[in-house]
Amino acid sequence: MAPHESTSSSFMKSLFTGDIAQEIIFPYPMPDAEELENIHLILQAWREFADDNIDARQIDRDKKIPKEVSDGMKELGFFGMSIPEEYGGGGMSKTGYARIFEEICTRDASIATSLGAHLSIGTNGLLMYGNEKQKQHYLPKLASGEWTACFALTEPGAGSDAAGIQTFAKLNEAKTEFILNGGKIWITNGGTADLATVFAKTDVHEKGEVRQKITAFLVETAWEGVSHGKPEDKLGIRGSNTASLNFDNVRVPVENVLGPVGKGFKIAMEVLNTGRLSLAAGCVGGCKALIHKSIDYARNRKQFGQPIAEFEMIQNKISRMVANTYAAESMVYLTAGLADRKVVDYSLESAICKVAASEILWDTVNETMQIAGGLGYSAEYEYERFMRDARINLIFEGTNEILRAFIALSGMQGPGEYLKKIGKALRDPIKGFGLLTEFAVHKVKDRVIHDSLKNTDPRLKEQVDKFNDYAAELKQVVEKVLMKYGKEIIHREFILERIANIAIDLFGIVAVISRIDTRMKADKPVDQELPPMRLYCDMAWRRIRRNLRQIDNNSDAVRKEIVAHAYELNRFPFEVLDF
Ligand SMILES: Cc1cc2nc3c(=O)[nH]c(=O)nc-3n(C[C@H](O)[C@H](O)[C@H](O)COP(=O)(O)OP(=O)(O)OC[C@H]3O[C@@H](n4cnc5c(N)ncnc54)[C@H](O)[C@@H]3O)c2cc1C
Repeated sequence: MAPHESTSSSFMKSLFTGDIAQEIIFPYPMPDAEELENIHLILQAWREFADDNIDARQIDRDKKIPKEVSDGMKELGFFGMSIPEEYGGGGMSKTGYARIFEEICTRDASIATSLGAHLSIGTNGLLMYGNEKQKQHYLPKLASGEWTACFALTEPGAGSDAAGIQTFAKLNEAKTEFILNGGKIWITNGGTADLATVFAKTDVHEKGEVRQKITAFLVETAWEGVSHGKPEDKLGIRGSNTASLNFDNVRVPVENVLGPVGKGFKIAMEVLNTGRLSLAAGCVGGCKALIHKSIDYARNRKQFGQPIAEFEMIQNKISRMVANTYAAESMVYLTAGLADRKVVDYSLESAICKVAASEILWDTVNETMQIAGGLGYSAEYEYERFMRDARINLIFEGTNEILRAFIALSGMQGPGEYLKKIGKALRDPIKGFGLLTEFAVHKVKDRVIHDSLKNTDPRLKEQVDKFNDYAAELKQVVEKVLMKYGKEIIHREFILERIANIAIDLFGIVAVISRIDTRMKADKPVDQELPPMRLYCDMAWRRIRRNLRQIDNNSDAVRKEIVAHAYELNRFPFEVLDF
């Protein structure tokens, strides 16, 4: 199959092969009218509840969410909003859930984190892989909030390298129970949850051999042998509970194995795909709250006889925050729409949403603090709490470094496999004649015409043309680095980071184009949306140009020299007064 033919149902994976699978992301997805109305009603209920009950400052100070707040949210159905109605939940789509989660984040990040650990990652494994009996048994309790859930993957020796977990579950002689031993750290709701999705190694018999593979288990924390550590004292999201979980000869009935034995790693990754999407939606909520604060402060604070909002350096910051948030929002709800369609693979897109939205939030919080001047730094005001709360998003549910490697490598998998076949064909040119001819035709075509976004509104011509050009360049650069480094590319993180950054920006650009184009075709007003779309695209393609240039023309060797010297001395290597 030629690289320009779509090999997957993922828009971004196709893009890496040079294929623009426009049908996947156009038109921009929208919930149906009934769900939209439902979402608005829930948002309204949340806002009223939050106005009356939530004091984010108190939650941060007391390091806990008041019981009345959790109870109130349970009563309103928030703890089950994404659980299907047949199990007592609200049956919300991913889009609806993301929108409500976003709004929760505008009020309090600790509440959002606890709820996200319960629903996005704590319950999702059961929803996706649970059998009917498991679902009937646990989901109604989780939906009502009578029980809460957590997701237990990370261990002291296995954070980013999640496949390296040591927690072990051994099947007993009678094959009725697994005996679970080990420990997890940094588990959100670890000290409070009733049900944990726990990942542990198990012996798996495969092709006459015994291999150790990860299996997922539903573990009730009330079972004998389960204990938890004291709550971690953290920089931010202080109201959320984070604790270690320990398993000492815990007897887990075989009925509580979640999904197939040995498939736990896949389950963990799929759960995190969903988790990353809601995390990104939460970041969008944080950005919106901060933009409101920035504008409000800038318009009221006067210096040099006028509101600081009038100064262009402040306008520069606010326009960037708005444009970036517009793009993050476009990416998140495009991806949520893909997830709701169920058929498509959205793992790359959700990783992109997580990296982009968490970094946009971090930039936004930084600029908001700057706009607030000295007040921004004071513990009297909310800015510093927003900053402390925002920081975690770059770390959990896959650090942004790991996700950049994932974006680049999983994007390059398709072209890599194709090029591997070309390599084989070159070794056996007679057998591989068909493939080589196809490759040659594709190369010639490449120089003449690229696959492109089509039939978009003429007002978007500039953005669409640039997207098409840079998408073609992504494909070429991927081919080039794969030919140059082969499998070694895994270790070329300077390159992987640039490729991931290009992919992130291309997805941002295409998401805003899809959103505006769909509005234009529906004759909706777009005049106010065009400027943030244009600014985001302008910033994004400047970054893309720089990243493309730096694939070949970079200072990577010099960076290597610097770290080698600094690592050797284990400190900053120089002394200015030493002549
Ligand atoms: C508040 C909080 C809540 C959490 N909640 C949960 C939870 O509910 N469930 C759960 O299972 N876990 C949870 N975690 C754990 C979280 O997912 C991990 O902290 C995270 O995956 C990183 O692992 P680590 O801390 O071991 O860092 P490490 O993996 O040791 O990473 C340290 C640094 O090295 C970088 N790094 C590592 N490998 C590479 C590489 N190959 N290339 C480039 N850079 C690399 C990382 O990006 C990071 O910057 C939580 C953590 C925190 C702080």
